[in-house]
Amino acid sequence: MVTGHAVIHDVAVFDGERLLEGRHTVTIQDGRIAAVVSSTALPPEMLAAARRAGRLIEGTGRTLLPGLIDLHVHLTWSAGTDPVATLALESPEQTLLRAVGHGLAQRDAGITTVRDLGSPHDLAIHLGQAIAAGWVPGPRVIASGRTLIMTGGHDPFWGLMVDGRDAALKGVRTQLFAGAQVIKVSATGGVYGRAAGEAVDDVELLPEELAVIVEQAHRRGVKVAAHAIGAEGITNCLDAGVDTIEHGHFLTAAHAKRMAEAGTVLVPTLFVYQQVANAPGVPAYASAKAQAIVARHREAVAIARAAGVRIGAGSDAGSPGTPHPSLIEEIACLAAAGLPTTEALAAATAVAAEALGMAEEIGRIRPGLRADLILVDGDPTADLAALRRVTHVLQGGVLVTTRG
Ligand SMILES: [Zn+2]
Repeated sequence: MVTGHAVIHDVAVFDGERLLEGRHTVTIQDGRIAAVVSSTALPPEMLAAARRAGRLIEGTGRTLLPGLIDLHVHLTWSAGTDPVATLALESPEQTLLRAVGHGLAQRDAGITTVRDLGSPHDLAIHLGQAIAAGWVPGPRVIASGRTLIMTGGHDPFWGLMVDGRDAALKGVRTQLFAGAQVIKVSATGGVYGRAAGEAVDDVELLPEELAVIVEQAHRRGVKVAAHAIGAEGITNCLDAGVDTIEHGHFLTAAHAKRMAEAGTVLVPTLFVYQQVANAPGVPAYASAKAQAIVARHREAVAIARAAGVRIGAGSDAGSPGTPHPSLIEEIACLAAAGLPTTEALAAATAVAAEALGMAEEIGRIRPGLRADLILVDGDPTADLAALRRVTHVLQGGVLVTTRG
C-alpha cells in the first residue's frame, strides 16, 4: 500500500479529544482523512473493493488515534547517562546518523511528529528536511536547530550565544535562515547541561532579548519555545509572549492565569526529571538538582490545570535515562499528575498540534486532516498501556509500520 488510500474498518476512534461512541470506518484518500462513518454505514461493495485492492485495514478490537506528537525531543542525544559527553566524542556525521536511527525508533512506536528543541550544527533541521524529502524514513521533525542562549547560558553545546537586542535579532534571523520551524530559547538555567555555573532559578536571556526574539519569530509565523524553570524567568517569557513554556517547575497561580488567557501551552516534561533524579549513573550534580524540584513539578502541573492552561506532552527524549521514544511514559506521568486519561492523550495529539500551530493539519481524526494515524490493540482511554501495542502506523495514509 503506497498510494495514500486506505479504509480502516470497524475501529474505536479517539479523535484527539475524546473516544467517539460506537465503532467506525475511516476512509483515506490522497493522504488525507476523507470520512469517518459508523461501521455499519459503509456500503458493503466499498468494503469489498477496498479488500480486493489490498487497501483494507481490519480494526476490530483496536483503537485508531491521531499519530502521536512529542513536543520536546533531542534526536541527536543518546539517552545514555551523559549524552553531552557522548556528543563530544562523535563527529557531526556520526551524530546525524545516530539521529536518523532515533527518529525511526520514534516513528515506529507511533510518534509521527516530533518537535526537536536543540541540536548541534542544526542537525535536527537537516534531518527534518531529509525526512520531508523522502531521503530517509522518520517522523515529521519540527526543529529549532541551535538554541538561543545568553553567553554561558543553559545548553551551550548547541546554543547560539546572543547578548543584547541586536545580537538576539541576529540570532533569531540566523536560525530562521537556517530553516528552523520553531525557535528555542533558554530563559533560565537548567538541571543537566553544565556541571557547574548554572542554577534553575537563574534568569538568563533578559526581557528585552526575549521580546525581540519573539517579535521577530512571530513576524515570520514561527513559534517560540522557552526553557523556563525559575519563576522570574517564566514571568519574563510570558511578558515576551512565548508560545510554550518548557518544564515550568516554579509556575505560580498568577503565571497560570496569564497562560490560560494568552493560550500559552505548558510542556512540563515530567518523566525526564524523574529519570534524571533517579536513574543510575546520571551525573551526581544533575541528579541532586532534579531531586530538589521533582515534587514542585507535579504541583506546577496541578496549578496549571486548575487555571485551565493547555498542557502538551513532551518527553525530552535523548536526555539522561530518557530513551527514544519516551512519550508513552510522559503521557503516563501526566495522568499520574492528575490529568484524566483522555486529557493526557489529547496532550500528545490535539493540544500538541495546536502548540505547533498545525491544528488544521494533524492531531485529530477529522475529514480533511492529514492521515497520520496509529492503530493500537485495546482501548488507551481505559488503559494507557494499550499505546505500547501499536499495530499500524500510517503517515499521510501510507502504511509504514505494521505489527500483528
Ligand atoms: Zn530539552
